[in-house]
Amino acid sequence: MRRARRYIIRVRPDGSVRVTVPRGGSRSEAARFLDKHADWIARERARMGEAHRTPEWTDGAGLMLRGELVTIRVSDDGGRRTARYGDRAVRVPPDARDLRPYIQADLRLAARQELGLRLHALADQHQLRVAGFSIRNQRSRWGSCSRSGRIALNYRLLQMPPAVCDYVLLHELMHLKQQNHSSRFWRLVEAVCPDYRDAERWLKVHGRGLL
Ligand SMILES: [Zn+2]
Repeated sequence: MRRARRYIIRVRPDGSVRVTVPRGGSRSEAARFLDKHADWIARERARMGEAHRTPEWTDGAGLMLRGELVTIRVSDDGGRRTARYGDRAVRVPPDARDLRPYIQADLRLAARQELGLRLHALADQHQLRVAGFSIRNQRSRWGSCSRSGRIALNYRLLQMPPAVCDYVLLHELMHLKQQNHSSRFWRLVEAVCPDYRDAERWLKVHGRGLL
């Protein structure tokens, strides 16, 4: 990076490591810098793993749905066990304690319907054509847009406040016009989503909590 003054190491939430190389720096120097800080990297990874351990979704636990905290309630009626959260209900096995896998599957189902509708409504509004749409379970990104115009969305978008979710959808839709993050791209985003900086901030502060 031309503007960087020194080497900077960053450990990402998925445990991968990114090194910023300053102007005039080199790959081999970056590798030496990494070696020198191997202990720190190991500690940082351990610390992140700790912070990253996903909490169990059990009866009475809370989770985010469309930006609101909802409580999981499990009921048994005639041998059928149902977990309800917000306006959703999903069958769960009688012996399951952590309901996360079942609720996640249900969230994906809801996301496929609701995010699909919203994405196509926004695309129509801005006269854009989406070539394809899929729901993913990505650990490090909220959405993506391929060169051929296929948009993939993280099901966790359904857990965010609708304004933040809309921003991510509009962000990906604007990639149909501009396949990069140039200033031209951000001008397109700002034109359709004037408060996008607030949404970006929300994602920075709360996004990791959803993963
Ligand atoms: Zn982007």
